[in-house]
Amino acid sequence: MQTIQADVVIVGAGVIGASIARELSRYHLNVVMVEKEADVCGGGSTKANTGIVHAGFDAQPGTLKAKFNVLGVEFFEQMCAELDVALKMNGTLVVATAKDKMEHLEILLERGKENGVPNLEIIGPKRLLEMEPHINPRAAGALYAPGAGIVCPYGLTIALAENAVENGTRVFLSQKVTDIVVREGQVQQVITPGLKINTSFVVNAAGLQADEIARMVGQDDFYIVPRRGEYYLFDKRFGTLANHPLFPVPTEVSKGILVTPTVDGNLLIGPNAQNIEDKDDTSTTVDGLDEVLRGALDTMPDLPLREWIINFAGLRTVAMPGNDFILGPIPSVKGFINAAGIQSPGLTAAPAIAEFIRDTLREEGLEFKPNPAFNPLRRGIPQFQNMSPQERKEAIAEDPAYGQIVCRCETVTEAEIVRAIHSPIPATTIDAIKRRTRAGMGRCQAGFCTPRIMAILNRELGIPQEEITKKGGSSRYVLGHTKDLFLKKRG
Ligand SMILES: Cc1cc2nc3c(=O)[nH]c(=O)nc-3n(C[C@H](O)[C@H](O)[C@H](O)COP(=O)(O)OP(=O)(O)OC[C@H]3O[C@@H](n4cnc5c(N)ncnc54)[C@H](O)[C@@H]3O)c2cc1C
Repeated sequence: MQTIQADVVIVGAGVIGASIARELSRYHLNVVMVEKEADVCGGGSTKANTGIVHAGFDAQPGTLKAKFNVLGVEFFEQMCAELDVALKMNGTLVVATAKDKMEHLEILLERGKENGVPNLEIIGPKRLLEMEPHINPRAAGALYAPGAGIVCPYGLTIALAENAVENGTRVFLSQKVTDIVVREGQVQQVITPGLKINTSFVVNAAGLQADEIARMVGQDDFYIVPRRGEYYLFDKRFGTLANHPLFPVPTEVSKGILVTPTVDGNLLIGPNAQNIEDKDDTSTTVDGLDEVLRGALDTMPDLPLREWIINFAGLRTVAMPGNDFILGPIPSVKGFINAAGIQSPGLTAAPAIAEFIRDTLREEGLEFKPNPAFNPLRRGIPQFQNMSPQERKEAIAEDPAYGQIVCRCETVTEAEIVRAIHSPIPATTIDAIKRRTRAGMGRCQAGFCTPRIMAILNRELGIPQEEITKKGGSSRYVLGHTKDLFLKKRG
C-alpha cells in the first residue's frame, strides 16, 4: 500500500470528476482523481447516455438542474475547441406529434424563458417538415432550441481528464475508494485497495455510488436510485435521417424517447426510463426495447428497423429525496464536498458545476494560486477516417502504421490504436481503446478487430493475451491456448 499526499481527492472519473479535475488543474494544486474502473468513464452514467448538450428549457425553474444547465451550455463551444472534441450545435426540436400536444410546447417555451434560455421558438408543421423530412407527417409543430447540440460524452470526458493529466493531475484507475477517514470533524485520508491518500479535501463525484461515499463520512440524508434507459444504435448510413435531436413532449420522469443523430454520424433512439435496484444492471430488456421502438416510431415512422447494430443501456443517477443535483459542502464534516445526484442534464452542466466546486473549495479554505504552466489545449488522436486523401498520404509517410487498417467498419488504423495505448491516460483494455479510437464501434461490433487489437496490446504493453480484458476485472476474452486447455481437461 502506497501513501501519498494530495490537496484535493476527486472520487470518480465520470464527466463531473474529469471536469472538476481539469478546472482545478488551472491552479497550483496537488490534485488526485481516483476511479474504481479500469478507465475514466469506465463505469456509471457518462459512458452511456444520449450526448445532448441541452438548451435548458426542460428543468423546473429554481432547481440546480435548470441553473447549471443554462450556465453549462455556454462553455461548450470554447471547451470543445480547446480539447479537440467534436461538437455540433445543431439545435433541438421537441415535436408535438398530435395537435393536442401543442399546448405542452407552450409550457416548455415559458419554462425555457424563465430559465433564461435564449432564442426559443415554436415552429409550425411546414417549417418542421423542411427541417426534418422524415418526421411523422401528422406532426403539428415543434419547439426549436437553436442553442443546443450533440457531443460524444466519453470522448469529452477522456479529453477533459487527459488535459487535467497534462497539467499535473494524477489519475489512479482500478482504485475503488473503500473508506474516508475523518478526525475531529475534518477529512483526513482516502483509502483504496492500493493507496492511502492524505488530504484535507474530498470531492464526491461518484455518480451512482455517491450515496455510499457520503455514508463513509456519516452523511445519510440522501440515496441514489438507478434509473435505466435503453437504446438502439443504427448504422452510420442512417445518421442523416434526423438533422436534430428530436424529442417527444416530455413525461413526468424523463425527457422522453428521442430520435437523434450522434456527433459521430450514427442514428440513436432511446432512452426509456425505468427505476431499478441494481446499480450495475445495464442489461437491455424485451419490454424496454419495445417501448423505445414504439416511442421512436411515433416521431419517425419510417425508421429502418432492420438496420440497428447494437442495443445498450445507461443508468441515470437520481438523488432522493429532492430529485435534484446535490452540490457543496456538508455542515458535519469539513473538507467533504458533494457533486452528487448528477442526472440529466449533467453532461451539459458539467463545466459550470466544475467552476462551482472550485469556488466552494476556495470558500472552504483551499488556497488557489494560478498554475503558470496550464495549457488549455489538448490534441486528440488524428483519425484516419476523417482525413483527406492527401492527409492520409502524409500520415502514412510519417508513421507507416497509419497504413494498416485494424477496424474495417470504422477505418481505424494501427497507428491510432498504438497512440491510444500510449496516451496521457493509457488505454489498457479493449473498451478503453474503443472509446478513444472507435475501433469496434461499427457494423460488425468488434468481431473482426478484437483479436488484432489484443495482439497490439500484447506487443505494446507485454500483457499476455489471457490477461487482456474488455473493461478490467474478470472480463477476459480468452482462457488460454485451446490445445493446453484440452489436454488439461483430459488430465
Ligand atoms: C440514459 C441517460 C441519458 C442521458 N442523457 C443526457 C444528455 O443527453 N445530456 C446530458 O446533459 N446529460 C445526460 N445524462 C446525464 C449524464 O450522463 C450524467 O449527468 C453524467 O454523466 C453524470 O456524470 P458523473 O460524473 O456524475 O457520474 P458517472 O459518469 O456515473 O461517474 C461516476 C464515476 O465514479 C466512479 N465511482 C463510483 N464509486 C466509486 C468509488 N467507490 N471509488 C472510485 N470511483 C468510484 C464510477 O465508476 C464512475 O466512473 C444522461 C444519463 C443517462 C443515464
